[in-house]
Amino acid sequence: MLGPDRTEVSKNISLDTKLVHVGSRPAEQQGFVNPPLYRGSTALYTTVAEMKESTSNSLRKKIPAYGRFGTPTSRAFEEAMTELEGGFDAISTGSGLAAITTAILAFVESGDHILVTDSVYQPTRNFCESLGRMGIETEYYDPGIGAAIVAKFRPNTRFVFLESPGSNTFEVQDVPAIARACQTAGILTLIDNTWATPLFFRPLLYGVDVVVHSATKYITGHSDSFLGVIVANEKTFGPLRSSAIRMGQSAGADDTYFGLRGLRTLATRLHQHERQALSLAEWLGDRPEVGSVLHPALPEHPGHALWKRDFTGSTGLFGVSLKPKYEMSNVHSMVEGLNLFGLGHGWGGFESLIVPVESHRFLREGPLLRIHVGLENIDDLKADLLQGLNSLS
Ligand SMILES: *Cc1c(COP(=O)(O)O)cnc(C)c1O
Repeated sequence: MLGPDRTEVSKNISLDTKLVHVGSRPAEQQGFVNPPLYRGSTALYTTVAEMKESTSNSLRKKIPAYGRFGTPTSRAFEEAMTELEGGFDAISTGSGLAAITTAILAFVESGDHILVTDSVYQPTRNFCESLGRMGIETEYYDPGIGAAIVAKFRPNTRFVFLESPGSNTFEVQDVPAIARACQTAGILTLIDNTWATPLFFRPLLYGVDVVVHSATKYITGHSDSFLGVIVANEKTFGPLRSSAIRMGQSAGADDTYFGLRGLRTLATRLHQHERQALSLAEWLGDRPEVGSVLHPALPEHPGHALWKRDFTGSTGLFGVSLKPKYEMSNVHSMVEGLNLFGLGHGWGGFESLIVPVESHRFLREGPLLRIHVGLENIDDLKADLLQGLNSLS
């Protein structure tokens, strides 16, 4: 039986079960299974001594404090994410991109060199470009580099930033090989784990130091909120928390509540996204209009072996490239003519989306589309895409 403090659940319990109970303390909230939603800037201290203690060491996240440093609601979400990723502690931020920029700025200074995967989420890349103004050099490496990353290390290399699979082009990285090479060289590793969520990949267990998420996507899961989270190991938590506090990064009360609530159904939703996306990916692979399907769980995907070794599942987001004979302009009309697939950013919600993608990593091949498979009936989704593909010729 679960104790009154449900965060102390046994270590060898499965992730699906943990998702249901992490960060929940019914005994401290009059028996209610969900924590109350705390809205607040000011929190009152009972003594000056308590106030001084609370403000002297912000790393301890002691409550009460000023609301920007956290509330019981954000603490519950952070506790849950820490437990799920197997980390030391976590920091919630107002968006996924804020989690990324806060994590990067925690570790760099003028004169540093950072290595970033060439398949990185474009806004992360835009931010790294802006670091040039502060004297920080970003070098992009091929996501397939693996242990050969060592050849790129310089005395001033601060960290390697990974994302697997890559945004839009879905290359799978050899995360353990890169993490090992970095550990040996004393270089930090940061990874964007938004695609997999901790349910399907847990990078800290493979030696990565810092995991960032856009919880806006699958974790909140309903396209109604912005939320980011940084999960750190013991060595990196201090600098990360200081960075967040210095820059005023914090997450909204409702959003952290939605993050925690989203975790309760994450396994159910992701297993369904996974089944539906695989079914659609296989179906697309057999279509004459399609050149290739970029889905790591398909055996023909170049990253399949690595995915199979390290991940425990796949989610609803994948790519499809059409035959080179099709023009992007035809593809635009096709996408605009679909009924169930929406044209929009911000995947990870309940609904299906499709976007044409222009990637510098995908130049000589046919038009590329990124598909998010939602929770609609799969036959309806196939019928919608079929009329779209038919409209191409
Ligand atoms: C959407 C996304 C982000 C940014 O998250 P926001 O919450 O939109 O700021 C970061 N990384 C990846 C891989 C994403 O897809």
